[in-house]
Amino acid sequence: MKIAVIGFGAAVIGFIEKMKKSDNEIHIFEKSKDIYSSSISGIRADGKLFVSKDMGGDLDVELALQKELVDFWIKKAGNGNYETGSSFTNLEYYKKFYEKGFQPVISDFYHLGTDQLKKVLFNIYEEYSSLSNIHFHFESPVSSIEIVGDKVKLDNNEKYDKVIVAVGRSGHKFIKTIIKQYPQIVLDSTKVDIGVRFELPDHIVKDLNDEMYEFKVRYKSKTGYMVRTFCNNPSGYVVTEHYGDFNTVNGHSKIKTKSKNTNFAILTTVQLTEPFNDPIGYGSNIAKMSNMLGGDRVILQTYSHFKGSKRTKNLYRVHPTLPENEYILGDINLAYPRRIIESIIDFAENLNKVVPGITHPDNLVYAPEIKFYTNTLNNDIFKNLKFIGDCSGYTRSIIYATAHGYLMAGNILGK
Ligand SMILES: Cc1cc2nc3c(=O)[nH]c(=O)nc-3n(C[C@H](O)[C@H](O)[C@H](O)COP(=O)(O)OP(=O)(O)OC[C@H]3O[C@@H](n4cnc5c(N)ncnc54)[C@H](O)[C@@H]3O)c2cc1C
Repeated sequence: MKIAVIGFGAAVIGFIEKMKKSDNEIHIFEKSKDIYSSSISGIRADGKLFVSKDMGGDLDVELALQKELVDFWIKKAGNGNYETGSSFTNLEYYKKFYEKGFQPVISDFYHLGTDQLKKVLFNIYEEYSSLSNIHFHFESPVSSIEIVGDKVKLDNNEKYDKVIVAVGRSGHKFIKTIIKQYPQIVLDSTKVDIGVRFELPDHIVKDLNDEMYEFKVRYKSKTGYMVRTFCNNPSGYVVTEHYGDFNTVNGHSKIKTKSKNTNFAILTTVQLTEPFNDPIGYGSNIAKMSNMLGGDRVILQTYSHFKGSKRTKNLYRVHPTLPENEYILGDINLAYPRRIIESIIDFAENLNKVVPGITHPDNLVYAPEIKFYTNTLNNDIFKNLKFIGDCSGYTRSIIYATAHGYLMAGNILGK
């Protein structure tokens, strides 16, 4: 069989890992220039690998397979260096959060760190590119596909027996084109996570960081919205992400270089109903509005000003890890809907009851932090066109995306 896979990220790596020993001819089309490109894959920052049934995606992935895939990634680092821990397996901590209305998320995690990921990706590429049935085509963005009888044609006019689309979140424009062409593949499109990135001195959350490194909790706020923590980075760094027409914040941490601050996101899940059908448009416009106020930079505000809706003009004890030329001191309240702001404040104030110091007035709040849920796509419509990883709407993490590719390859091989 001649198979085309579009994108070379976590999902395709899972797919190839399962498929590599078969006699199928596999062509990988990746838009980035080469394997060293900073735009290749979502596997560039942080590299936290989770083993959990409660987070990472909406697929049923056995814990044993998740751990197997974690071991695969760690092995590719080539040196056995990683940090590890468990979240909320300690009942005492579980109960402390539970009593205040939080739903703690149980998981094991393994942290490779941003500094190691380039090497990991390169080692994987080196192995796959040495195999005779696998062909890499870099600088090959695919912009359209067409189902022609029992084949799928790419925009290079080549026909394939199967096409696996795995373009992650950065491929959203391509997915939009496919949906326009084949609207029947969409199952669901109503959710977006909008929030802020919090940054505070390590010592405030030291006990929690020592206990579990990554604390993930969910909470139903007084507004009715579900709010959650996401991507905790002890001694980490806040960074900006560039989506082409807007900039957002994110966070990461490294294995070797450490800061004195911890950062994590507080995200509100906004789920709207009919006639709403454009969560990406809604999130993008909020991000653009924030950028417009910040002169294309992200907004930084102290917690007390965020809560009191005043523009921040000076910082006090907490020094941002994001470089000064990437943020503007401002007021997030001018860009965000009130219900989202109220949900975040309610969450932070309640979290402060469990972790005193979270709401110190001079702690830092950055915006916009937005996580797009891609449309959930139906893989049962076409026999020869499948979607895996984050672009399919079923995954939101390295391990779930890898597992999705791995399981899809297993299905195709009949295993
Ligand atoms: C900054 C950041 C930090 C993250 N940290 C973590 C973490 O610590 N732990 C975790 O579990 N998850 C993390 N994630 C999420 C994780 O990276 C993704 O869930 C995962 O990479 C999804 O895998 P994927 O294969 O679906 O997409 P990706 O890994 O994003 O790969 C998609 C590939 O498709 C290519 N592509 C896009 N469009 C086209 C096109 N039209 N034609 C050809 N190629 C195309 C892209 O260049 C890219 O290489 C992070 C994400 C980001 C952005």
